[in-house]
Amino acid sequence: MKKKLIDRRNFMKSTAAGVGGFFLLGSYQNRAQAKETDKKIIYRTLGKTGIKVPVVSMGMVNAGNPNLVRAALDAGIVYLDTAHAYQRGQNEALVGEVIKGRSRDSYIVGTKVESPQNRITFLYTDEATEEAFLKGLDASLKRLGLDYLDILYHHRVGRRESALFEPILKAMEKAKKSGKARFVGVSTHRNESEVIQAAIDSKFYEIVLTAYNFKQKHYLQVKEAIAKAAQSGLGIIAMKVMGGMVSQDPLRPINAGAALKWVLQDHNVHTAVPGFCTFEEMKTDLSVMENLTLTDSEKEYLKTASSSPGMYCQGCGQCEKQCLAKLPIPDLMRAYMYCYGYRKPGMAQELVVSLGLPSHVCEDCGPCPVKCLNGWNVAGKIRDVARLRDVPSEFIA
Ligand code: SF4
Ligand code: SF4
Repeated sequence: MKKKLIDRRNFMKSTAAGVGGFFLLGSYQNRAQAKETDKKIIYRTLGKTGIKVPVVSMGMVNAGNPNLVRAALDAGIVYLDTAHAYQRGQNEALVGEVIKGRSRDSYIVGTKVESPQNRITFLYTDEATEEAFLKGLDASLKRLGLDYLDILYHHRVGRRESALFEPILKAMEKAKKSGKARFVGVSTHRNESEVIQAAIDSKFYEIVLTAYNFKQKHYLQVKEAIAKAAQSGLGIIAMKVMGGMVSQDPLRPINAGAALKWVLQDHNVHTAVPGFCTFEEMKTDLSVMENLTLTDSEKEYLKTASSSPGMYCQGCGQCEKQCLAKLPIPDLMRAYMYCYGYRKPGMAQELVVSLGLPSHVCEDCGPCPVKCLNGWNVAGKIRDVARLRDVPSEFIA
């Protein structure tokens, strides 16, 4: 298996345009200028993997336009973060289409394979086997058109026991030995500090991909866990950096640059994967690659925005203990965020349907006893988003 690390300078020469080149496309022709621009990009190393990446990478979760991904790579993005489950595999196929024909050492691809788990306990079910994980990996490689991944993740891990689940660790070990994965990682969206500590203790994982943003009420715990993980040599990648919002919504504009800088000011974070899906959003996110200094107005924005709950579920799990029907409320709140925050009703519908909810939800409990940490009326949001089950998918973008 080829293990050549990215030679950033050669890559920038070969693509003829650095990040600044993107902003100056058309007039930016000169290689000397490209070198000058190259010097401005801030790189960090993903722990002991030795992989150097710009501090901004691309989260593919919302991506649908291959030209946007091409432009991102041409503008200096190196790491593309996808997942087996995104858009039922179409997301990996899109990545495969974009990277086809590009030099294999000019980009890094990470994908995530998820194993079946109980939506309330986050423990794996009997279907979570080594064989099933490896089958998922092979399907991902095929869609991507790759012989090997740069990073293979164990996806959506919410407990220590799951991070250390032997059948999955064995599968990942086999993937490494057979040359299908250069490095292995774990991704976590809740109980992040517990999962990160398990990743450290495992002495197996090389990368942690964790939710981390200014809207997390528990961000100090996550920050501390990240610091320990970085100290022990793990590469740290931050996701969910916008705290559940997207900047394209005119009714709730967010300051994406401020949110991204907030995460990257933590030097233990090596890169972040914002899920930009328009050229305008990309321009904002890429500008952060060269400048992490928060302006006064960005600081003010962070102060104000951090005190509003927005649509970011904290993943604290206190609602699940109180719910009379034991509904997977954090998942339902995530679906609500996909629908009204990301404006992706298709993603929301897919998630809602996958939860196997009872036919009537939040109708027979009388007053709902659930007290949400964010102060949300969760029953109202659940009734709202559960309606997506009845909409034919062909009517949903
Ligand atoms: S109303 Fe809904 S959220 Fe509240 S307890 Fe009943 S099922 Fe759970
Ligand atoms: S209590 Fe609220 S913030 Fe916490 S997990 Fe439930 S929905 Fe999310």
